[in-house]
Amino acid sequence: MTSSNQHLQQALQHCSPDMQAEIAYRLALQESKQRSWLNLAYQLETIVTTAAVIATLAILLVPGVNQSTTDWYFGIPWLNAAEKQPDQEKQSDQAAEEQKLETQQEATGRIFPLPGKTHATAELSSGYGSRESPGGIGSTFHRGYDYPAPTGNPVLAIESGTVKVWTDGSCGNGIELKAKDRSFIYCHLDTVTVANGQSVPVGTVVGTVGSTGGSTGPHIHIGIIEGGDYIDPGEYLKVLPSNLESPPEAPAATAATSSVSPDEAQQYFLELNGFEFSDSKASSFRGVTRIEILGNPTEVDRETIKQVMQDLLDLGANGIEIVESGGNVQLHFAETTEFGNIVPDVVKGSIGFFSRKSEAEEGTILIATDRRISQQDRQHLIREEVTQLITGLGKDSDRYNDSIFQQRHDPVTQYSEIDKAVIRMAFEK
Ligand SMILES: [Zn+2]
Repeated sequence: MTSSNQHLQQALQHCSPDMQAEIAYRLALQESKQRSWLNLAYQLETIVTTAAVIATLAILLVPGVNQSTTDWYFGIPWLNAAEKQPDQEKQSDQAAEEQKLETQQEATGRIFPLPGKTHATAELSSGYGSRESPGGIGSTFHRGYDYPAPTGNPVLAIESGTVKVWTDGSCGNGIELKAKDRSFIYCHLDTVTVANGQSVPVGTVVGTVGSTGGSTGPHIHIGIIEGGDYIDPGEYLKVLPSNLESPPEAPAATAATSSVSPDEAQQYFLELNGFEFSDSKASSFRGVTRIEILGNPTEVDRETIKQVMQDLLDLGANGIEIVESGGNVQLHFAETTEFGNIVPDVVKGSIGFFSRKSEAEEGTILIATDRRISQQDRQHLIREEVTQLITGLGKDSDRYNDSIFQQRHDPVTQYSEIDKAVIRMAFEK
């Protein structure tokens, strides 16, 4: 959520009662958007992607995929142990099996997260959608599939990708595996065996099954994010091959494009430029942005800030640095209950917020540290609020689901292609 406080205050003062009611309604909408998942249906259109494309990319991009060695995929203790059995016949069976598996994984680039299992042979304890809360407090919307398995059971990378690791009260020990076309959210892990930022090939053991966070028994929770929103992962998970079974037929190809036309970018720029509740336009910071970090950021929060800074520099920002004091941007990490003490007229219900002093190149950003706000949400909020303040692209939009400026609650943590295009335009103007 974003706002220019001054403009909001002015707008409220000069408004008719009708208009005030309208603004109140918009504020309420802003609050509700944070947990709105109603836009999922049309995400389904974008789910389908081709195994052929993934396989081609895997062969082209992932080191080692096209090598003939077999232990590359299987840094898995139980498979390595099997390899070392003295029985020669068993060894050659194992080699043949691994050769077969390698071919399958090259073909699909994806496997079921529990070794030796598929959706059909694994137990499913909970699907996607509304259900009673496991804790018994009302109902909750379940954003993934739950597969019970013994604690300590290895959990595998479903596709090749880069991992982010965090811990929170609901997901427990969590991993986001960011693959080419989607992200996988793994929750409740007992142990995590990969490091933040690590690139992992499909089939890598990323952790072990556990019951950390909001969980009532050992299971692996798998959520899938596509185009910035959680999707029902069933269609995808149900056709994943086991790492020990034949893969399904590759799905049909659909065209996908990430190219952005200048017209499209120009239109989006105009939509985003300025502030919520105001008709005035805004310019980007011309001078050096000096960010002062206050409050209690996590290690991942700090890494996120640095990544956002680097991305903005790459896109044309004149200079951004972190300073100990005397910054022109105060970036506060605080509980939402503290927000009002930092920015007295903060929009109620905000979990991320910025305010900019008119056209001056200074402002304040608030990022919620409440336990209910996941690390991934904070990564999104940090990127969105910092970007909006510095670029003058202060308005949200519901136009693109993979955009950091997406109005609905979105866990997008990277700039999309059109985001990069409009940010470049903001710094060029
Ligand atoms: Zn779950």
